[in-house]
Amino acid sequence: MFAKFYPSRYVESAYLIPYEKLYAKGYRGIIFDIDNTLVPHGAPADERSAALFLRLENIGFSCCLLSNNGQERVELFKKDITEVHSIHKAGKPKIRNYKRAMELMGTDTSNTFFVGDQLFTDVWGAKRAGLFTILAAPMNPKEEIQIVLKRRLEYFVIREYRKKRLKTAAKKFDDAETIADGDMD
Ligand SMILES: [Mg+2]
Repeated sequence: MFAKFYPSRYVESAYLIPYEKLYAKGYRGIIFDIDNTLVPHGAPADERSAALFLRLENIGFSCCLLSNNGQERVELFKKDITEVHSIHKAGKPKIRNYKRAMELMGTDTSNTFFVGDQLFTDVWGAKRAGLFTILAAPMNPKEEIQIVLKRRLEYFVIREYRKKRLKTAAKKFDDAETIADGDMD
């Protein structure tokens, strides 16, 4: 019932993803959510996120920020990081702007992955857009009430996802296993 919300991978932090390994597997584009994925909600880029984008550029990735927030918020994050594409008011989980992000990067669903913290917007949209999808645990424990309510629903879906993964091991996730070595859980 919840399977349509399951990410390809679940990580404790976007900063723990083995990006070099994913590049070696053939990935060339990354679409990132910003708030609670890369920095706490509403925060500018910090040293860690600036260093991450520099690292990704050096690896050879194209990146695109995909935020449902407005232009001002996205620009606040962008101003201190290396060159990156961005789309604000993205309307996730609609798939239109995931596709546009790939157009901006010159990549496609075969070599692009998505990183975000919300199941029902970020992950659901990315999956429907055909992307390999990494759910990162949210950074900021202080969230708005509507997000807190969504988190409770997400908790149940993630719990089911983990149970199922344990049961079926790599079998059900063969596709996902081809891009990472199974060490991203
Ligand atoms: Mg977010």
